[in-house]
Amino acid sequence: MIKIDHLSKSFGNLEVLKDITVEIKAGEVISIIGPSGTGKSTFLRCINLLDRPSGGSIRIDGVDILDPKADVPKVRQKMNMVFQSFNLFSHLSVMDNLTLGPIKLLGMSKEDAGSKAVDLLKLVGLAEKAESYPDELSGGQKQRVAIARCMAMDPKIILFDEPTSALDPTMVSEVLSVIRRLAKAGMTMAIVTHEMDFARDVSNRVLYMDDGIIYEEGTPEQIFVHPQKEKTKTFINRVRSFTYHIASPDYDLYAMNAEIETFCDKQILAVKQRYNLLLIVEEMLQIYNPFLSKALLDINLAYSEKKESLEVVFESTGEAMNVLDKNLLSDELGLTLIQSVTESIDYQRLNNKNRVTLILKKQ
Ligand code: ADP
Ligand code: MG
Repeated sequence: MIKIDHLSKSFGNLEVLKDITVEIKAGEVISIIGPSGTGKSTFLRCINLLDRPSGGSIRIDGVDILDPKADVPKVRQKMNMVFQSFNLFSHLSVMDNLTLGPIKLLGMSKEDAGSKAVDLLKLVGLAEKAESYPDELSGGQKQRVAIARCMAMDPKIILFDEPTSALDPTMVSEVLSVIRRLAKAGMTMAIVTHEMDFARDVSNRVLYMDDGIIYEEGTPEQIFVHPQKEKTKTFINRVRSFTYHIASPDYDLYAMNAEIETFCDKQILAVKQRYNLLLIVEEMLQIYNPFLSKALLDINLAYSEKKESLEVVFESTGEAMNVLDKNLLSDELGLTLIQSVTESIDYQRLNNKNRVTLILKKQ
């Protein structure tokens, strides 16, 4: 359906896309992953002619869209895009956001456009918001409206540019569910995303972009489980982590818990694991409490998607000592609780710091 050959794009001296050749067939769902700054957005914007490619060709159903005579608005309507930042018209109601394009660009009657809009709003679960304005909606709802608006133009393919990365973690899943639903219905889609689990289960094919090219491509299994090239491996197996610094006994417990919750949301951790993680942090901080006036403490949480394991590291300054040493503990209840939810607990003296590493039990 779409054939892209030797596509390149430079901004001045900056060569962002070097040589991209790829074909997208009708009904395919393609995920595009890769480090930031590697040209993923530029690639989508070139396909959609929001950026003019510097070289190469793009054909849709055999028609060269880079031909100067090509009808650009028509091309954009066929390859409609959903942006990170929603891009809804804030002065228009949800209904008007959905009907404007079909009436103006597709020549639909107001009635037809309206009834189609209602169907699409039902599809994305927002039928009751037809008369609301974008400012009255949550981020997740705005993005679902943006997807419905995109569908209203009857696109052949939808290009998603990190559709969930501007959202609060609590709203990510409602948007991903809508995209999953479109995938099931056979919509052709190209999705730039950092949601690896989602990319893995929604797509037929994954493109890993790096160095201005499609560095490696394959099925989700090939890319996520058996990547062949070094950079792909590093990217896929990277450990996602988060560190919280505690510099005094008066640290802000609520802020810390909120950050941990956010981390859990991003990693899509199960409720049980989340609960166990918070339990470990709470009990460990009780144990550390007598030392916090003299020591700096870093709490590092790391989730390895590959190993599906969650690791919590407590690293503190001060003289060598293991806080979990039974001779130091005033009461062993905390330790017993921690042991009940961990697979392993290790103490190391490293770089003049005390490091306790706990690995959570898999549920
Ligand atoms: P990604 O989406 O993979 O994070 P982008 O496509 O946004 O990457 O950007 C790739 C590179 O192109 C970056 O170095 C970015 O600064 C540069 N770039 C993107 N758009 C423009 C532009 N309009 N003008 C100049 N440089 C740009
Ligand atoms: Mg981008």
